[in-house]
Amino acid sequence: MKVLVPVKRVVDYNVKVRPKVDGSGPEVNNLKMSINPFCEIAVEEAIRLKEKGLVEEIIAVTIGPQQAQEQLRTALALGVDRAILVLTDILVEPLAVAKCLKELCCRETPDLVILGKQAIDGDNNQTGQMLGALMRYPQGTFASELTIEGNRATVQREVDGGLQTVSLRLPAIVTSDLRLNEPRYASLPNIMKAKRKPLATLTPEELGVDVSLRTQLLNVKLPPERKAGVVVNDVKDLVHKLKNECKVI
Ligand code: AMP
Repeated sequence: MKVLVPVKRVVDYNVKVRPKVDGSGPEVNNLKMSINPFCEIAVEEAIRLKEKGLVEEIIAVTIGPQQAQEQLRTALALGVDRAILVLTDILVEPLAVAKCLKELCCRETPDLVILGKQAIDGDNNQTGQMLGALMRYPQGTFASELTIEGNRATVQREVDGGLQTVSLRLPAIVTSDLRLNEPRYASLPNIMKAKRKPLATLTPEELGVDVSLRTQLLNVKLPPERKAGVVVNDVKDLVHKLKNECKVI
C-alpha cells in the first residue's frame, strides 16, 4: 500500500503573527517556519501504518517555495520514504493545491491520502474535501482513529457532540484531527539519513495546473483589544454593575 501525505509549510504555531504595517497581509518574513501541526499528525499516522506492516511507501508532498524543502526533509527524517516539492512562490489557494495533488494522485496512484484537517495559517479546511471531489475518492474528515483492513479504511470522525464511524473503500482521503495521535520527534541519526532520501522537484506547469490566485486579500488586522476586567466585591456589587453600567439585566 502506498500513502501520499501532503504537508504544508506554515509559521510555527508558537509564533505570534502580526499584520504588515499597511495591513496588506500577515508579516511572515524572518519568522520560524514549521510543518503545519495537523500535517505532522498525518505524517505520524502514515508512519504508524508502515510500522504495522500495512504500508510499503510513504510520499510527502508540498506545494510551496524552495525553502519548503526544509519541511520535506523533516518529514523524511520522521520516516517518510521520498518527497516531492511542487515549486511555486505563490501562496497557493486550496483549489490549486487540490488540483496539483490530483495530478500527483494520477501519477503515483496512492491507496490512501492523509492530509491535515486544516492548515493553521489560512484555517481553510478545504483541501482534503476538494481533492476527494476531484478524484471522486471517498473521504473521512476530522479523523481521530484510523484502521485499515483489506481494501477498506475505517475512520472514526470527530463531529459536533460526538463521534461518527465511517467505512471507506480504498483509495480514499483521510484528514487528521488533533486526537488521531501524538507525533514523534526526529532522532539525530534519522535527520542525517534524511539528507540522502530522494526529494524530487516539479512545477505546477509540469503538472498542467494554473495556480494563479482567484481571490484577493483586501486587508488583515488584529482583533480589537479586550478591555481589562474589574473585580467585584460581592454579588450585590455585581448585580449593580450589570444593571447600571453594562445594562444587560
Ligand atoms: P487547508 O485546506 O488549507 O486548511 O489545508 C488542509 C490540508 O491540506 C493541510 O493540512 C495539508 O495536508 C494540505 N495542504 C494545504 N496546503 C498545502 C500545500 N501548499 N502543500 C501541501 N499540502 C497542503
